[in-house]
Amino acid sequence: MDELAFILAETKARLKIKLDMLSESSFNLWFGEMELDKLDDRSARFTTPSPVKHQFLATKYKGYIKDALEEVIGFPLDVEIVYTANLEKVRAKEEEEKERLRKEEEEKKRKEALSEEDDEDKITEYINGKSQKVSTLESYTFDNFVEGSSNKFARAACYAVANEPTAYNPLFIYGNSGLGKTHLLFAIINHMRKTQPDLKIVYKKCESFLDELVKSIKDGSTAPFKEKYRSADVLLIDDVQFLAGKEQTQEEFFHTFSALYESDKQIILTSDRPPKEIKPLEDRLRTRFEGGLLADVQPPSFELRTAIIRKKSDDMGILISNDMVNYMAERLHNNIRQIEGVLKRIYAVSSFTSSEVTREYIDEAISIIDPGNIPTVTLIEKIINAVSRFYDIPIESMKSKKRTNNIVNARHVAIYVIKTLTDLSQKEIGSIFGRDHSTVINSLETVDRNMRTINNYKENIDKIIKEVKG
Ligand code: ADP
Ligand code: MG
Repeated sequence: MDELAFILAETKARLKIKLDMLSESSFNLWFGEMELDKLDDRSARFTTPSPVKHQFLATKYKGYIKDALEEVIGFPLDVEIVYTANLEKVRAKEEEEKERLRKEEEEKKRKEALSEEDDEDKITEYINGKSQKVSTLESYTFDNFVEGSSNKFARAACYAVANEPTAYNPLFIYGNSGLGKTHLLFAIINHMRKTQPDLKIVYKKCESFLDELVKSIKDGSTAPFKEKYRSADVLLIDDVQFLAGKEQTQEEFFHTFSALYESDKQIILTSDRPPKEIKPLEDRLRTRFEGGLLADVQPPSFELRTAIIRKKSDDMGILISNDMVNYMAERLHNNIRQIEGVLKRIYAVSSFTSSEVTREYIDEAISIIDPGNIPTVTLIEKIINAVSRFYDIPIESMKSKKRTNNIVNARHVAIYVIKTLTDLSQKEIGSIFGRDHSTVINSLETVDRNMRTINNYKENIDKIIKEVKG
């Protein structure tokens, strides 16, 4: 029996008890064909195949159905009864709404990604011998790229290509923002400038490539654009995920790519995701991207984070103890750009007073660079507040011994979110609610099951998490 069928059967069993004035046959008459079509954390939809029965269920018995279902699943929700013939329409409307929300979300992410990098010193283009910003470029080398298990492979691939162009062609580096992809591209360029100064190297940010192409089309002369890229010996395009959905640019990009590839020129690309996740992207381009070597950069391990913090603070002349390096590495998990941002902030303060870095300096700098990243105690407080607001349950009730369904549910969710967002042990989490670790295990299991079986349950937890991280 699938899970909806099971919940339906349980609900009917409870209905039967509530409606014990009905004979077996009248119970079956009204409820026998009733189905549970949909269930999420806010609402449930039952169907019935007869308009007459629909009329009765929707008016006379709806309250009973709602009560019985709530007893089974343990929290309140809206119940809707639909005549089966209207089901398609109701579902289609719902899908439309979902699609609209999904698109909104996608658009938001895109904007966030675009505004993420600070523009100040950003190099959007470099052409060997022509760029003004060589000094910025020169600060990114293989030497000052700290190596760990998460980036070793990508670094080795880049180093190989820098020494011997077309060793891997194309070389495609992917991984989340702030993990060193652009650094590696610049390291390749610096290395090649020294060892093979005659190579024509062209580096271009993908967004800037798109702008340039659009402009050249507008101006009615694409020839110089084509010439610029097709005459390269080494072409590096950064952040090619921005090709997604840009048909015309993909077309031009494909021809540039093919021309270079066929004349045995090195192509190096980066992206925040692997080729198969860049969507929509023409198949022929995807195939080309995947045709050489794919190398990923992963979030840095604790060891790599401490090594980076140690090296960069020494280079900057920041006085910092190993304990404080560890503390920083614990709090800054997955973005090396952020680690640098925090160090720059700390430098501004500590070099001024030439004092050793304290925990307060670090907390202060992190709160500015990464406002969503907060110390565990504050985080727990925020989580409990957010859950309390979301389910409209007072904090005291969540921490009390009360066992009312919706209080229990809120407590489960708070425990789950704390487990997800902090490194606390089950025992430590239990103690926040005056309980032992077995309560925590039970909560985690319940939430896990609810996320799988109840539509939107997971989405709401995601909303809470998002608010907390806000
Ligand atoms: P991405 O292009 O992947 O978004 P960047 O290459 O711009 O990331 O890296 C962000 C910042 O972190 C840069 O200033 C870069 O020098 C630094 N960085 C990243 N990885 C390392 C590393 N392994 N060693 C030293 N610095 C690093
Ligand atoms: Mg980059």
